[in-house]
Amino acid sequence: MSEFDVDLFVIGAGSGGVRAGRIAAQHGARVIVAEEDRVGGTCVIRGCVPKKLLVYASQFSEAFEDAAGYGWTVGETSFDWPTLIAAKDKEIQRLSDIYVRNLERAGATLVRQRAEFEDAHTVRLADGSRVRAKTILIATGARAYRDPVLPGAEFAITSNEAFHLPALPKRIVIVGAGYIAVEFAGIFNGLGSEVTLVHRGPSILRGFDGEVARMLTDEMTAKGVRFVLGEAPERIERRDNGLVLVTDKGSICPADQVMLATGRRPNTDTLGLDRAGVAVDGAGAVIVDRFSQSNVPSIYAVGDVTNRINLTPVAIREGHAFADTVFGGREVAADHADVPTAVFSQPEIGTVGLTEEKAIELYDSVDVYRTRFRPMKHVLS
Ligand code: NDP
Repeated sequence: MSEFDVDLFVIGAGSGGVRAGRIAAQHGARVIVAEEDRVGGTCVIRGCVPKKLLVYASQFSEAFEDAAGYGWTVGETSFDWPTLIAAKDKEIQRLSDIYVRNLERAGATLVRQRAEFEDAHTVRLADGSRVRAKTILIATGARAYRDPVLPGAEFAITSNEAFHLPALPKRIVIVGAGYIAVEFAGIFNGLGSEVTLVHRGPSILRGFDGEVARMLTDEMTAKGVRFVLGEAPERIERRDNGLVLVTDKGSICPADQVMLATGRRPNTDTLGLDRAGVAVDGAGAVIVDRFSQSNVPSIYAVGDVTNRINLTPVAIREGHAFADTVFGGREVAADHADVPTAVFSQPEIGTVGLTEEKAIELYDSVDVYRTRFRPMKHVLS
């Protein structure tokens, strides 16, 4: 009899963990996947999927306006936030159930419990039971980061709560200027909230092509989003008529909700990684090689918990490559070069490869070709 209960124990049933568990099981491995929350991970439960549904919802206001130019008379319109949230939740549950079925169909066993490390081959489940595994995969993702030194941060929401607010805020202040900040600014603006985006840097979307970021700032401003750039949040206060965010330059931004979109941190704090001897970096991310193997040979990690490129398709690719390498008999490393990315801002952004700024830094001579496109849809409206 094997000294191990299973060949693979996956901690976390998100995009990376589910793909790895499924493919490993298809390769014939005995697999357990543990999940303490709903199956599907950030992308399905509180990320890409619900976000896109909210983006679609927010685009109707403009479509109603455009329609007039095309001869339509659109009667009085109104929007009901609880209806949208309930419909969105129903769809998320449907997708989560599909994830469960796909795992089971592949032959993996799902345990709906928290799992933590006891040693390099053993995990302890919340009910106290222990599982010995030949290989353990950490796929616990990341969580929204609240700056612990920002006074009043406890009054603010993150994207987690934004998906479940009881009512659409009349005024919202969003802190940060990354993916989540610009996407939610577009959502709330389209749904009718007054949106102020406060960012410590001089321009939005650091790391993206500067020209693209400037164009998005202009377009969002034209749609009604207010930008407060080059000012860091100093404190959030609760006052009689709501919240107020005060910046280090003294700007006062009143709001019904303040949302912090100030990055995410790997979920490694309470996993017991020290008991297994797994090394993490300064941000708490599991340090892995190109095959997603940690410093402990029996332990691997994929997805946001490794803080490489924190995108769902990358986590899926890393999970698949891991399963092929360890259980499929062929070495595959996920390729992290030139990964395309899309921001569901309004308008959307899609990019791949170097930014202009990076190209200029790397090469002696760079030619830039640019074209502007005016969507025909808008010519009549
Ligand atoms: P990002 O890392 O993209 O952006 C964080 C923003 O918060 C930056 O503007 C940053 O400013 C600012 N910030 C960080 N710390 C502080 C602080 N202490 N005080 C004030 N501002 C601060 O994180 P997001 O939260 O937007 O998204 C997390 C990750 O999720 C993304 O990196 C992405 O990988 C993924 N994601 C992908 C999506 C997609 O593919 N469409 C959608 C949503 C998320 P500065 O630039 O100055 O550091």
